[in-house]
Amino acid sequence: MCGILGMVSKDSFSVRELVSRLQRLEYRGYDSAGCATAEGFLRRKVGSISGFLASLPEDAAPDATTCAAIAHTRWATHGGIAEQNAHPHCAGDVCIVHNGIIENFLELKEELELKGAIFRSETDSEVIAHFLQQYAAEPDLHKGMQDLMERLHGTYAIIALRKGDPRLWVAKKDSPVVLGIVGSGGSASADGYSSYIVSSDIFAFSDLTRKAVFLEDFQYLMIDAKSARLYDRKGKQLPVKPKEFHWESHNGGKMHYEHHMIKEIYEVPDVARNLEESLAGPQAASLSRMISLLRESSRIILLGSGTSYHAALLGRHLLTAAGLDAYAYASTDFDASMARSHDAIIAISQSGETMDLLVTLKAIAARPDRGDIRIMGLVNVPHSSIERMADCCIRVEAGQEVCVAATKSFANQIVALLTLAKAFGFKTTYARLPLAEVIEQAEPVAQEIAPWLASKQSMYIIGAGACYPAAMEMALKIKEVSYIHAEGMLAGELKHGTLALIEKDVPVIAIIPDAKSHTVSSVKEVEARGASSVLVAGADKAELGLKGKALFRVPAGSDAEVSLFAAICGQLIAYYTAKHLDRPIDKPRNLAKSVTVL
Ligand code: GLU
Repeated sequence: MCGILGMVSKDSFSVRELVSRLQRLEYRGYDSAGCATAEGFLRRKVGSISGFLASLPEDAAPDATTCAAIAHTRWATHGGIAEQNAHPHCAGDVCIVHNGIIENFLELKEELELKGAIFRSETDSEVIAHFLQQYAAEPDLHKGMQDLMERLHGTYAIIALRKGDPRLWVAKKDSPVVLGIVGSGGSASADGYSSYIVSSDIFAFSDLTRKAVFLEDFQYLMIDAKSARLYDRKGKQLPVKPKEFHWESHNGGKMHYEHHMIKEIYEVPDVARNLEESLAGPQAASLSRMISLLRESSRIILLGSGTSYHAALLGRHLLTAAGLDAYAYASTDFDASMARSHDAIIAISQSGETMDLLVTLKAIAARPDRGDIRIMGLVNVPHSSIERMADCCIRVEAGQEVCVAATKSFANQIVALLTLAKAFGFKTTYARLPLAEVIEQAEPVAQEIAPWLASKQSMYIIGAGACYPAAMEMALKIKEVSYIHAEGMLAGELKHGTLALIEKDVPVIAIIPDAKSHTVSSVKEVEARGASSVLVAGADKAELGLKGKALFRVPAGSDAEVSLFAAICGQLIAYYTAKHLDRPIDKPRNLAKSVTVL
């Protein structure tokens, strides 16, 4: 959440160039945008980055070029969506952008106000600018950065600059920040490159370079046109070790698709095949390490948030069916003290930066009695914080996902979990999942029922066993992009209360692997009360003996495979319903990708 960006270059660049690059981070927040240059240009605006870009001076304008600048796209935590709360925040000659939450901002604000600081925003972030302003007259901000890290409590990725000084200063604790080095330079250092781009994630510069430096907590950077220098919190210089990263953007643009969401759903079959090949090839060693660590463990705890929690739920079914002692928890429902000796924790996260998950993992890692508790990652973005702290990690290799709602990354989380379960004896129906067929068959049905679903206030999605996670995921997807209330639940639980809400023509979407499933009876019960059922099933209506207003006929398979097929049908249902309602599908209101705040 919140995208921060800083650029320093030997050659000058325009603020429009900087802000165009900021657009690559827009999925991290889209409440407001802003930028500031070392030459003193400052602009902030509520709304989309494209609107902000349009408000900027033309490249030829005298104040439109710079050699050091910062930019920000906001997902508000403290203070409303208003221009005075947009970043950068400036105090005197110092301007900063921030991702995270400063927990002790009130205390610091009081202290700084006593010294004469005048605050103009309601944000927690503004204290950073006033704090650093105290050091503005010094030749550099070394002392300022060190003192800042001593005083701030909370989470932060910060980029600061001073007017008239073409250097950027970057500090990190918990929130992600990465430096991209562009051009050619020192192979084992970050000296002599043509430009330096510091950002919340690698997508900001993955079109320009494959070399990056991933900052750890309590480190800070000083970047000028010739070099990037790394320091610890006491000011001791540290070696800079650029890493090579490979990041598939699958053409970061939308191509001919109307939205990233549908483009990313269409990518599911390809990315799934790539992952299967990668797990049999380049990632085979990581996979076998994970398998052997799981073998040595007593319990397996799968953790995730949002969509990744639903992957964890399905992973629990798969691993339990394979004879392992597996449990799934939402990240916020699992406390570090609940982990026991010999547990294997599988942390599932698209970004690998989910704060709710990271705090728990860090607390487990810090336990003095951690002993043999293993932390494993299942992440999409390479070199993420979770990958760096894990004992072993599998990358799901779905490539860049731009739509805030996760689609292809979820599919690949399940492909990875299926592969793990197979190693423990789980029997699948398909050697190669028929995902393209699922999309082909589901799309026209999703288009057909979208106007009807779009007219509803509420709907219920039911499933049992391994199909329950798909019901939860389908409901989440519908809520996220169409804004219609959808409740995912265990089919058998309906009659214990929620059945009271069923009346004529209420949509109940049921996930039914085959005619033997108990969910068939649950559908009978809602149909008897006038509900309109939509069946997502591995069998035909006649075999199931159900009325069904519509049928998504998915290939028959193990319950877990049908669950994945159903989740993909759910992505299409959510997409076409939201499209009918003309929702901002790729950037739903109030949401952002990569949830890096608590
Ligand atoms: N707390 C800051 C604000 O509300 C940054 C928010 C974030 O990182 O998402 O402006």
